[in-house]
Amino acid sequence: MTVYTAPLREMRFVLHDVLGAADTLTALPGFADSTADLMDAILAECAKLCEGVLFPLNQTADQEGCTFKDGKVTTPKGLKEAYAQYAEGGWCGLTADPEFGGQGLPETIDYLVSEMIGSANLSFGLYPGLTQGTILALTHLGTPEQKSYYLPKLAGGLWQGTMCLTEAHAGTDLGLLRTKAVPNGDGTYSITGSKIFISGGEHDMTENHAHLVLARLPDAPEGSRGISMFLVPKFLPNADGSLGKRNAVAPGSIEHKMGMKASVTCVMNFDGATGWLVGQPHKGLAGMFVMMNKERLFVGSQGFSTAETAYQSAAAYAKDRLQSRAADKPAYPDKPADPIIVHPDIRNRLMFSRAIIEAGRTLAVWTHLQVDISHKHPSPAARQHADDMVGLMTPIVKASGTDYGSEIANTCLQVFGGHGYIREHGMEQLVRDVRITQIYEGTNTIQALDLVGRKLGIDEGRLFKGWVYEVDKTLARLNGRNDMAEFTGPLKEGVERLKSVTLWMTEAGKADPNARPAAAVDYLKLFGLTAFAWAWVLMIEAALLKTNDDADFAAAKVLVGRYFMQRVLPQTISLDAVIRSGSQSMMALKEGAF
Ligand SMILES: Cc1cc2nc3c(=O)[nH]c(=O)nc-3n(C[C@H](O)[C@H](O)[C@H](O)COP(=O)(O)OP(=O)(O)OC[C@H]3O[C@@H](n4cnc5c(N)ncnc54)[C@H](O)[C@@H]3O)c2cc1C
Repeated sequence: MTVYTAPLREMRFVLHDVLGAADTLTALPGFADSTADLMDAILAECAKLCEGVLFPLNQTADQEGCTFKDGKVTTPKGLKEAYAQYAEGGWCGLTADPEFGGQGLPETIDYLVSEMIGSANLSFGLYPGLTQGTILALTHLGTPEQKSYYLPKLAGGLWQGTMCLTEAHAGTDLGLLRTKAVPNGDGTYSITGSKIFISGGEHDMTENHAHLVLARLPDAPEGSRGISMFLVPKFLPNADGSLGKRNAVAPGSIEHKMGMKASVTCVMNFDGATGWLVGQPHKGLAGMFVMMNKERLFVGSQGFSTAETAYQSAAAYAKDRLQSRAADKPAYPDKPADPIIVHPDIRNRLMFSRAIIEAGRTLAVWTHLQVDISHKHPSPAARQHADDMVGLMTPIVKASGTDYGSEIANTCLQVFGGHGYIREHGMEQLVRDVRITQIYEGTNTIQALDLVGRKLGIDEGRLFKGWVYEVDKTLARLNGRNDMAEFTGPLKEGVERLKSVTLWMTEAGKADPNARPAAAVDYLKLFGLTAFAWAWVLMIEAALLKTNDDADFAAAKVLVGRYFMQRVLPQTISLDAVIRSGSQSMMALKEGAF
């Protein structure tokens, strides 16, 4: 069976010992209450909900799935009650503005909450995850009326937010979308079109839905510059704010999917539905990116979340399952065989998982700290630098989190042998569930193209240089520390390699238009691993400061960090070679020969 205990100690280590998050946050306007004690209390409360309510539902909800009958979606047994408890606890509006019913807490803490919820029940977490993105978009772009009407209901979890972008012929390339928005002359618009793959598009857990829909106005220019964003509620508001008649938006069907079966995915038909413009006409894609950037980081958390559950489950199984003897001498001569954790290959899988999960958590929490700084810091220069870091790290957290989430779910399934492939153990569910995270919110290829095509190019590499500056600060601080040399040495080499490859990417693009897109996915991986090496140096630095009480914890950190430096980071050497091989090896074969 899968097991999950919220890794609170690890989370507190990252928040307090590694990043000193409370000091940074409490100095920001509006976050004076975000002390270490408050953050610990929130994490402990969330852990109770995840371990006691959401995790026990994970497997049954997967087996039952969502059903669609007479235009209505029914979620699996227990989900509605769990959602009510979740909403009641104020979790939907954790980061929302207190003026509109939110708790006004930092994104930093929200990341760890999302991680726990995803570990406990990935499908469940997607519903509030989308509502939070809708809240963010409306907070930034909504009119005062839209904010005061919608935000309290969304923050209270009474209404579900969705993002309606994808159409059958327009997925990655949203410039192709055809849904139309015609002005009604009274400030509203008539929205007509069909959207597919809409997560949470319809269900029985909330009384209303607020759909954010991308559509084209009659005078819209072609392509992505002609897209506007509209707010389309399932039930229209009466003059007094109560729920009125049903709007002309309804699910046509639900998708039958590989995984995340308790998260409903709908075809949504808009048949002249009444909508309201959000933000400027023709600027809807940029507006939607307010939501998408948050969702991309959220999806990254889904990858790391799944990895954590897979790792915990595999570690427990490896200590219990008896097969064969240790290579040197029997570890448990009184038993018929040794537990499989004695075998180097099993340990390799577990160490790899842990080395990635712990570095990934540190990098993701650091990135969310930058989100908070970018929103709240009084200094414009500090806000800009933090915003640069968020922009650079978003594709890396999304793609690395989900690629490794999938890889770790698979490698941990392998630890279970054939039992991993059998449904009752729950490991195959993790593999199925996490797979979509590499695809939605912009496939991981699109994340890599965003990194190399857009983020690296901004202001002659300002974002990249800003991140290297952060790493250089760490290395300067640790200069001369012999106890850190086995970690700082590989990081230094890694950053030099990354700088050199980045320069190659800039030059190569000039001669061969395919060179950068051909290298993008490998480049993102190389960047991610180098960023993880930085995260490991920060963790080891903090671990070495631990007192005797935490000696075992600190010693384990050093061992896992050493594993990362010796067995994972060297992958960047081969990635370097692969990237520099250019595009010809994949572009030379004629299309007809495939
Ligand atoms: C379960 C689920 C939930 C979803 N939830 C939502 C939702 O709530 N709202 C919503 O609007 N959408 C949602 N989606 C849609 C999702 O975001 C899209 O599936 C995704 O963006 C990819 O689009 P596509 O499926 O049309 O693939 P395509 O765009 O057709 O891409 C096919 C392949 O081509 C690659 N590709 C495309 N362009 C390029 C390029 N320029 N360079 C290199 N490779 C390229 C892609 O990476 C991919 O591998 C969901 C999808 C699923 C399956």
